[in-house]
Amino acid sequence: MKLTNVPVLFVILLSIHVAHNLASKSDNSHNLKVQDKEDVKAMPVEEDTIFFHHEFEKMVELMDEVHKACPEITRLYNLTEPSVEGRNLTVLEITENPGVHIPGKPEFKYVGNMHGNEVVGKEMLLYLMVAMCEEYKKNSPLAKFIVSQTRVHILPSMNPDGWQKAFMKKKENGEADWLTGRSNANDVDLNRNFPDLNAKIYENEREHKGRNNHLVKVDKAIAMDKSLQPETRAVMRWLASVGFVLSANLHGGDLVANYPYDETRSGKSQEYTACPDDHTFVYLAKSYAYFHGTMADPHRIPCDKGGESKPITNGGSWYSVAKGMQDYNYLNTNCFEITLELGCDKFPPGSELESLWMDNAAALFNYILQVHIGVKGFIQALDATPVANAEIKVVNLASGLPIDHDILSLEDGDYYRLLGDGYYKITVHAQGFHNATRCIRVTNSIHVGSEDFAPAPRVDFALTPSDKPAPDSAEAVEACNELWFEIQQETQLDDRDLLVSVLSYLEPSTKWSIVSGELSTVKLYYYLAQALRRLQPEEMREVLHLLPHAFQEQLEMVIAATMQNK
Ligand SMILES: [Zn+2]
Repeated sequence: MKLTNVPVLFVILLSIHVAHNLASKSDNSHNLKVQDKEDVKAMPVEEDTIFFHHEFEKMVELMDEVHKACPEITRLYNLTEPSVEGRNLTVLEITENPGVHIPGKPEFKYVGNMHGNEVVGKEMLLYLMVAMCEEYKKNSPLAKFIVSQTRVHILPSMNPDGWQKAFMKKKENGEADWLTGRSNANDVDLNRNFPDLNAKIYENEREHKGRNNHLVKVDKAIAMDKSLQPETRAVMRWLASVGFVLSANLHGGDLVANYPYDETRSGKSQEYTACPDDHTFVYLAKSYAYFHGTMADPHRIPCDKGGESKPITNGGSWYSVAKGMQDYNYLNTNCFEITLELGCDKFPPGSELESLWMDNAAALFNYILQVHIGVKGFIQALDATPVANAEIKVVNLASGLPIDHDILSLEDGDYYRLLGDGYYKITVHAQGFHNATRCIRVTNSIHVGSEDFAPAPRVDFALTPSDKPAPDSAEAVEACNELWFEIQQETQLDDRDLLVSVLSYLEPSTKWSIVSGELSTVKLYYYLAQALRRLQPEEMREVLHLLPHAFQEQLEMVIAATMQNK
């Protein structure tokens, strides 16, 4: 197969929701030869399609072809150890200037096929490589942006031995079964094989001590735990050597975007277990689910018949998983990882792969873009030397509560702090320096289908050595106060909107939305009290019942005052 013959898979990104229609109308669609079910057994290699299940050699061959077609933006490398049966864990890196970390450019990864019999993710990642190369060559703004501003690493198969086992089963029986090939060749489930850092973080939380990030030294953890598998060790070392910021781990057997924590705090088998970055993780999970062809469709048939079709789920609230890779990423590195379940069928027929690609293509690209949410920047000393391992601490200004999970700056002093929309105070702690603080507002808008793409806004810090006098922080304090004032005003504005909507409900004859701009909040409350006075207690209760919860308390006070005046 020549890459130049690979059909343009990409029209989909121009219009996500009509992906299926567009694909069938595409001029190139005649090039797509979809193999039927029988082909999965016989596995002939078509010259002009990539939509079939790639055996290990074919997978590496395809990755190599992508590299040869786009040599200037790709690099192939293997993780430090092969699988139990000696298959390399091969990664394709896609970026301008591959092979090195460029300070300020965030690192992203996709990992597929950790459970060997969950094969859709592997194929999707192979098609993604092809599409990225094709789009780059066509100068598509999306691919250009990703390649110039992001370093993407793709490991399509973390468990090639398990894949082979599942594939043989499918070949023999025409059907893969639910478990064959899930584990590695030592029969160990790799997603239950990472160090259990949740136990440690929950203990630290309870006792208000210890670190809230980077909980174990990787070499020590590997030396101490003989049950770690070669595939697990290879990934652990990989995570320790690259400063990943964002990641997804692709599975199958359901259709949902799952976010941390996977292991419940209480030990219950099911319980919502928020991590400190819950707000941001919900945003990230949605950024995949809502760009997928069917994941967020409320009318789709759930995989678990009788269950629910949820687009996203907290891991713990689904079912508790200890020693998983997702929570390990969050607790031992700077990387935020979610787990994507890409379909009910773990090993679907090859004939379904094209349509699965159509469902996933936009979401796969959109999720990569999310490595650019929040803020990033450089932490340096006053003499411009980079400060590595500085702790970036964040407080959510709206709630006043800290996000108890620090990110560390990298070797070159660069840092990346993914954050959902909101107001935040960022404080940098580094040994030998005075703290530095900045307050910021985060408004994320990067997504597939945008007109233009921009990296996260840059917030740099210049630190004063602690043996010098502390710098004047008046300016930073002033900026934080201003932002605080802005939040107050916005909340007040929300309150006013609610007041206006209540008044419109009580007295529809007056166009409150028009006159409200002229009236002070006090005046609006006055009119509200007057309107309420005309109601019977029974009617008041009815009004209360209809109103947003946040507003009820204030309104009850107004009503109490009104009753007294009656
Ligand atoms: Zn799985």
